[in-house]
Amino acid sequence: MVKDKEKKPASAAKKTSSKAVKKTSSKAVMKTSSKAVKKTSSRDLAIEQKLKALYDLQSVDSQIDEIRTVRGELPLEVQDLEDEIEGLDTRVKNIDAEINGLEEFIKTKKNEIKDSQALTKKYKKQQDNVKNNREFSSLAKEIEFQGLEIQLAEKKINEYQVTIESKAETIESAKGDLKERQTDLKFKKKELNEIITETEKEEKKLIKKSQKAEKIIEERFLTGYKRIRKNARNGLAVVSVERSSCGGCFNKIPPQRQLDIKLHKKVIVCEHCGRILVDSDIAEIKF
Ligand SMILES: [Zn+2]
Repeated sequence: MVKDKEKKPASAAKKTSSKAVKKTSSKAVMKTSSKAVKKTSSRDLAIEQKLKALYDLQSVDSQIDEIRTVRGELPLEVQDLEDEIEGLDTRVKNIDAEINGLEEFIKTKKNEIKDSQALTKKYKKQQDNVKNNREFSSLAKEIEFQGLEIQLAEKKINEYQVTIESKAETIESAKGDLKERQTDLKFKKKELNEIITETEKEEKKLIKKSQKAEKIIEERFLTGYKRIRKNARNGLAVVSVERSSCGGCFNKIPPQRQLDIKLHKKVIVCEHCGRILVDSDIAEIKF
């Protein structure tokens, strides 16, 4: 579809004209003829109609693309949120486990303190019944040692408690985030369901419209159209001329080509990207 062969047998033109031209109101013919195409032969009109049909098909297909894009992004957003929630949940659980572990340590240390206190009490009692100084100072050393053990355990307990407090803060903020995300998720899911229901209806309507539009376009144009659309990232196979440039690839269009586009006598494609070019008048035409 690089070059439109004007010499195509009339059968192709007939095919489309027989379908759509019949419905052409005199008003539409007048409207276009008053502009660029002064001598509108039935053949020119057929080309104009083809361009219009391609333009209309593109409009409908672009709407379908848009619907699918919007609908396609929402499940991803939901998935992202679900992943994030799972991550936060794991984080909360991990911190919880860490806090529990620290609390266990504190319990152990408290038991150690109790043991040391019991030993201290026992040694003090034993000191009352010693036979000599050596025994007394040996017990005194033991008592001192247990005193140090108690201090050490208390220091550890304090450290654990500080860590627990900081972890408790972290867990609170993680829980806050988690709650927020869960609310977001609920909202997103609801939104998704609504959009799916709404757009499926709309999409079905548009698909029917697209199929109808395809029927009046001859095979070679349709094949080309579909091929370009498939390869174009934005799904545009028919574009309008915007500021003397192709609306698809934005390359400048030579002035003569621009004039040809305005005449609606040939199907003209962009030299750079192969997209079918139409002028803004095509959008206005009603058949
Ligand atoms: Zn282009």
